[in-house]
Amino acid sequence: MRDVIVIGAGGGGPVVAKELAARGLDVLLLEAGPRHGKVEQDWSHFEDDQNNLFKGALRWGPSSRAKTAWFRETPQRSFINQVAGVGGTTTHYFGNSPRAMPGVFNDYAGPDAARYDVAARFPFGYAEFKRYYRWVEQTLPVQTAAMGTKEEVFFRGCEGIGLPVQTGKDIVADAFRPQENAILQPQGNAGLTRDAALLQYPQARGCTYCGYCYQGCSEPLKSPANLKAKRATSTSYVPMALTADLWSPGGRAATLVAHAFVTKVHASQDGGQLVARGVSWRDTETGLSYTEDARVVVLCGGCVEDPRLWLNSGLPDPNGWVGRGLTDHAFDWVTGIFPFDTGSSKGPASACRADFPGLGGLENVGLPPGLQALTAGYSDSGIRGSYKLGLGETGAWTGPAGRVMGRELKELMDNVNRVLNVLVLTDDDVEASNRVSLSQIFPADEHGAVPRVEIGKRQRSARTLSNRRALANKAAQILKAAGATKVIRLDFAPFMLHVQSSMRMGEDAATSVLDADAQSRWVKRLFIADNAALANSCGGMNPTLTTQALATRTAERIFQLCFGGSAWVGRETPLSSVDDRVTQAVLARGL
Ligand SMILES: Cc1cc2nc3c(=O)[nH]c(=O)nc-3n(C[C@H](O)[C@H](O)[C@H](O)COP(=O)(O)OP(=O)(O)OC[C@H]3O[C@@H](n4cnc5c(N)ncnc54)[C@H](O)[C@@H]3O)c2cc1C
Repeated sequence: MRDVIVIGAGGGGPVVAKELAARGLDVLLLEAGPRHGKVEQDWSHFEDDQNNLFKGALRWGPSSRAKTAWFRETPQRSFINQVAGVGGTTTHYFGNSPRAMPGVFNDYAGPDAARYDVAARFPFGYAEFKRYYRWVEQTLPVQTAAMGTKEEVFFRGCEGIGLPVQTGKDIVADAFRPQENAILQPQGNAGLTRDAALLQYPQARGCTYCGYCYQGCSEPLKSPANLKAKRATSTSYVPMALTADLWSPGGRAATLVAHAFVTKVHASQDGGQLVARGVSWRDTETGLSYTEDARVVVLCGGCVEDPRLWLNSGLPDPNGWVGRGLTDHAFDWVTGIFPFDTGSSKGPASACRADFPGLGGLENVGLPPGLQALTAGYSDSGIRGSYKLGLGETGAWTGPAGRVMGRELKELMDNVNRVLNVLVLTDDDVEASNRVSLSQIFPADEHGAVPRVEIGKRQRSARTLSNRRALANKAAQILKAAGATKVIRLDFAPFMLHVQSSMRMGEDAATSVLDADAQSRWVKRLFIADNAALANSCGGMNPTLTTQALATRTAERIFQLCFGGSAWVGRETPLSSVDDRVTQAVLARGL
């Protein structure tokens, strides 16, 4: 019997695995997708080869790219951007690591408290939670982003509309700032040359400014696995979990099994309570099934798969909130075209932002050409432009929203370094009708009934819609003030790459699945430690740092509640994942 089984090696799971392995527990980490071993050989900068939804290296599907991707039912126009594999969706992510707005925690007493999603606050205070943020910020590590021309242009626009600079991490007033991100700062030749031979480790360290953050990040070439620039969990928490016996006194290495799709969580009655007992999984390469017992089970399959697994396991759902309350930041996208170079495709994809407490945030996103074209065609509003076919919401600066087509698309794609994109991250409300359930239409696949994901305009609150509109207008104003000659608003269809709160923790037992320890209210010793556990959409802030801080807190709670241990966060100093001791351990183990 294992001490702990963690399901899913994405943004949240490896955090629990690393923290509990460092305490000496026997941890098994099961991951449905592949383990990308030699990323320098397996991954490329060819956008389709890497990103194609159906057969790309980074997709929601089994290890073998010859096999079909796994399907979900989405009854509306939408796109779920999730990756299966060690690192999960953090292999795609941009590393932006802001803290959630203090206003979404239950100790917030600012004069604007009512502007947030007050019915869905975190069931603990920001003051308590800060120490978990600090712990993760040092472990990843999180630093001020490396910047370049595109950030300069964005900042000029922010200053142009009168925004002040934000200098701290606690976001309680409108302001702009560099991102806090989990991408190592360039050192040595990094960022100074385009000569590939000079951009290899150790001559180059950290971000090489290649601009392909979306594609996994194997930069700088030849660096040890824990020194890749982008701090996906595959380069930070997973190497630490697998070497915990080497760098942590009393630690024990976690065991990782890839292409292991968990199909059932087992639970049985004990003293009048349902208690988690273990899991069954299917090896996606051989088709063989396995069962293993554990004292504690932690779900970290992401917002879509957690409710699916829960429901397919026949676990209880007495208040009907399993899968409900899904938030996605109701993204929108505003692009400016400029008469000068913006350097949009270079450097960390998203290195600056502006925040508007109560509304959400805006961040610049620079993209390579394939993704730039993809975003230009992704709309909920038909075709925009002079054809007057744009059906979507309009804004003060933007005219009709919609897909960019024809001559206008050529103009937009003429030079990928003469655009500046702004992603709108709405502080969206937890809504019961936005949810994950089991599809009644699609046939089950080899892992059981497939998920149905419902989210969209008709199910969004008036506050969510008005926040989104206000932010799109601010984005357009910033772009104009920065010198854009044309501003285009896409009115994105749901683009689910920030998904939160589908198995939410909450103060109210009637509208939540987890208690304040992230333990299931109805199955003891079953915890959730990924984005699904979040109480809300974090005020529109990128969720992963908050998920990882919460996963750290949950690991500590598991150690205390289930293994009689004591707390460590705030009492000990965390080891950075780029510390020499970790590098030596990674090299010694040949990771
Ligand atoms: C393009 C892009 C950019 C992003 N940028 C940022 C950013 O800058 N900052 C930020 O905060 N967030 C960002 N995100 C979001 C970020 O990636 C997610 O918040 C984070 O990965 C969520 O972690 P998770 O553990 O909830 O889910 P995931 O990372 O999706 O991990 C879940 C893992 O569980 C596995 N799994 C699922 N079901 C099972 C099962 N039944 N058995 C075994 N394994 C299973 C999956 O294969 C996967 O590896 C971005 C996302 C995208 C797509």
